[in-house]
Amino acid sequence: MNTMKTVDLVRKKRDGGKLTREEIEFLIGGYIKGEIPDYQVSALLMAVYFRSMDDEETAILTDVMAHSGTMLDLSKLHGYPVDKHSTGGVGDTTSLILIPLLAAAGLTVAKLSGRSLGHTGGTIDKLESIPGFRTDLSREEFLGLVEDSGFALADHTADMVPADQLLYELRDVTSTVDSLPLIVASIMSKKIAGGAKGIVIDVKTGAGAFLSELEDSRHLARSLVAIGAHLGRKISALITDMSQPLGRMVGNALEVKEAIAVLKGEGPQDLEDLCCELGSELLLFSGKESTRNDAVVAMRALLHDGSALAKFERLVANQGGNPAVIKDPSLLPTASQRVNTLSLRSGIVADLDALAIGRAANLLGAGRFIKEDTVDYAVGIELLRKIGDPATKGEPLAILHVNDTTNLDRARAMVEEAYTIGENPVTPPPLVIERISED
Ligand code: URA
Ligand code: CA
Repeated sequence: MNTMKTVDLVRKKRDGGKLTREEIEFLIGGYIKGEIPDYQVSALLMAVYFRSMDDEETAILTDVMAHSGTMLDLSKLHGYPVDKHSTGGVGDTTSLILIPLLAAAGLTVAKLSGRSLGHTGGTIDKLESIPGFRTDLSREEFLGLVEDSGFALADHTADMVPADQLLYELRDVTSTVDSLPLIVASIMSKKIAGGAKGIVIDVKTGAGAFLSELEDSRHLARSLVAIGAHLGRKISALITDMSQPLGRMVGNALEVKEAIAVLKGEGPQDLEDLCCELGSELLLFSGKESTRNDAVVAMRALLHDGSALAKFERLVANQGGNPAVIKDPSLLPTASQRVNTLSLRSGIVADLDALAIGRAANLLGAGRFIKEDTVDYAVGIELLRKIGDPATKGEPLAILHVNDTTNLDRARAMVEEAYTIGENPVTPPPLVIERISED
């Protein structure tokens, strides 16, 4: 009977039909209960890959997936709950800064994050590089911290959105990851289950992004916003540059250092600007500010008057980390060697390939090739020169922070090749390329 019905639904999608809520509930519910086998869901995923789903169908899939496990209820907490998501980048240090910054603005941040995978970093690994910092909080502890302090950060737990975990593994082995409705449902189901009312999505574009082409990033951004709005959230997306890494540090403890610098008002300008732009979207949704300009100014003020830094100190202390790292970043894990990458010619940096830098950092041990790999918090890459900067033959372009030297030669060659040095002046690419919203 179940098998009969499933095959009918697979055929319906195969032939370009639109699945109803009842049908999607039957399929997702049956799959997570183990009543519908992988081979039928594989066929369904391939049918979705070729036939796609419209916004309404995608919104239903998202909602059904979100409800496949625990949903966080933040409605009883004080404050306006917000969330930020990045589609993943290289040296994308923004969450470390935005969590305390948004809290300093009086917003509520119950942040669930992931670990590094592939060439992109993960907020959980970065914060765990702070000695003692815990992210494996129980649900009670997590919500208790959010209630008392207005913010907390924890690892995704298995009881939330189990449908996404199962479907993602199946997509991975059936070549159906890169289907727009499946990507959107995967990302948005986790945001919906997380309970935020206001959501901003940082859709990266360029070499180091999940989708490198602007047109693809734009489709993804539009769809994420449409589905979030469909499900009653205030949501916008910024399409931002990931042709080169963000900030100057790539690596876990290195990015914590960089985040602390930005929180002291002394960080790289691109990183500060992006945090203020993303944060301002959420401040507008909360109603605390009414113009974009005022919201950006408010964000910047909280970075420069020490308020956001104080919240970061609280975050570290709340979760068992050593807050002394803020005054003395040398307490963070430090690599045993620093190796320079020298410029082979003089000129202007015309390109700095984010993907190559992310891969090189991974080779040094900063990330994971497979889920089971362990991460070396201390290692990574410090970029002394970025697009538009002058380079001098024989002078360093970047510093590799190294412990295990097994892949050092390959990593160094990769960093060298990531840089393109030209003769003519170059304007760095704009940071925020487009803003996508419902209206
Ligand atoms: N990120 C996700 O969480 N899911 C996808 O399917 C792709 C990117
Ligand atoms: Ca960075």
